[in-house]
Amino acid sequence: AQRTAVGLVGNDGRVDGSRIEALAGVAQVIHVTQPYKQVSREWRPENTIVTIAPGVSVGGNDVIVIAGPCSVESEEQIVTAARQVRAAGATCLRGGAFKPRSSPYSFQGLGLRGLELLALARKETGLAIVTEAMDEEGAELVAEYGDCIQIGARNMLDLTAIPIVQGLSHLPIIADPSHGTGIRDKVIPMARAAVAAGAHGILVEVHPNPERALSDGAQSLYPEQFAQLVRELRSIAGAIGRRLAPAPERTTATAHV
Ligand code: MN
Repeated sequence: AQRTAVGLVGNDGRVDGSRIEALAGVAQVIHVTQPYKQVSREWRPENTIVTIAPGVSVGGNDVIVIAGPCSVESEEQIVTAARQVRAAGATCLRGGAFKPRSSPYSFQGLGLRGLELLALARKETGLAIVTEAMDEEGAELVAEYGDCIQIGARNMLDLTAIPIVQGLSHLPIIADPSHGTGIRDKVIPMARAAVAAGAHGILVEVHPNPERALSDGAQSLYPEQFAQLVRELRSIAGAIGRRLAPAPERTTATAHV
């Protein structure tokens, strides 16, 4: 708040700081030694709080819960899921419109229609939308409809990474216990552990009817399991001096839906 940091990126070797240090108004030259400069705490010591939608921020004291189905399948499915996760205490709705699948025979997602349905679910519930982009072109489109772009990183959940990365980076950390375990019964304990370890948020798959899910049904929580998980996370967050983020305000248009 009291000083302005100016960053130099793109240099391969060490830059001679003495000429810069001699300029008027320069208090200090700090050499950032890590290859990951802009995300490192040397660049910015204090936590970065990212506001993804009005009233929805991640990276501070509040723990955000992002929940919803793996894929957007239909209007009824996504709106039902949105209402269920909101009622249980989620802050954001997740759901994929473009699905990175290894088999061409697997469900590939609804594409643009999926994004439109996510926007409808936001209108119905007030939840912020987190959805995945698979490439640069898709990112532009996803940014038009979603509040937060998810970039896939999958099949790993090492909880020691949470405190380690928090020491190195000022950015918020969100844990994905669903893709990290792939098995419904393992998602719940890992979600609890992620919040206990200090994650700023969790991303969890919940489906109104997991047996009929077109993707990742085996790791999707039943709505009542998710509601129980949120109650537990509220206690865990409270025990470490944090709290679950409140759901965003509903717009007046949807207040009585
Ligand atoms: Mn999934």
